[in-house]
Amino acid sequence: MIKAAVEKIFNKHGFTAYFAEFCEVSIEPKANEKGYKTVFLTYVPYAYTPSAEQNICRYAALEDYHVYLPKKLNGIKKDLEETFRGSIFDIYTDNSPIDEKKAAEISGLGIRGRNSLIISKEHGSFILLGEIITDLDIPCESRAPEYCENCGRCEKACPSGALKDGRINRERCVSALTQKKGVLTPEEEDLIIKNGLIWGCDRCQEVCPYNAKASSSDYADNSVKLTRITPEDIDGLTDRQFREKYAGRAFTWRGLAPIKRNIKLIERKGEKQ
Ligand code: SF4
Ligand code: SF4
Repeated sequence: MIKAAVEKIFNKHGFTAYFAEFCEVSIEPKANEKGYKTVFLTYVPYAYTPSAEQNICRYAALEDYHVYLPKKLNGIKKDLEETFRGSIFDIYTDNSPIDEKKAAEISGLGIRGRNSLIISKEHGSFILLGEIITDLDIPCESRAPEYCENCGRCEKACPSGALKDGRINRERCVSALTQKKGVLTPEEEDLIIKNGLIWGCDRCQEVCPYNAKASSSDYADNSVKLTRITPEDIDGLTDRQFREKYAGRAFTWRGLAPIKRNIKLIERKGEKQ
């Protein structure tokens, strides 16, 4: 009954709810001061075809989902609060007290890809997770993790060899390297140059068969896309000015320095050719 009412509220707002027991997916079970019992997990799909000149990975070229998704979840939260008076409903995207991937697996939201990402059967891996965590106690069916078809295309496509045996080495992942602050090693620089994006990397998702028919969403279709940043766009900007100019974009959280460095690296490659 409670579960059906929650599902109905999520559906009304265009989302699907998946359920996991908080104690099964909590990162720090002992720090459960709010008495959380249940996680309502959901996602927003964002698959789209990038433009030819795009130099930012797909998710980061869209309006920041850290802003978009909480806004949407807030509408759901209000309805939940009206229906279940006195209960807590806290919204999280990314910065969450749970292991989102584990929650996605056991709740049935998706399967685990060899590229270490969660793959929704309907929308592939181009999805962004968010959740509402509550003190409502709802019995949840906990599923055993399922795995992808194991074709190995993601490992072959990875430009840095960061994927091996279904695990990701974040030290080598180019997406992480584009976000890394400070001085890079020559090898790390070469990896960014080879990948050609100033922020992120989508290679292991582009080749995954589960994404071949991934459909788009209102979020991706209606988002004002910022697909390319050129050296001229950031020339002379201070860190503050950069953050102001690109407010509402996920790539600003590390500040101007990594973007500036990455653009320089990739431009240098262009000059050598
Ligand atoms: S994001 Fe890119 S570098 Fe990182 S694991 Fe996937 S393909 Fe490899
Ligand atoms: S590319 Fe193949 S091995 Fe990699 S996540 Fe997709 S299905 Fe699994």
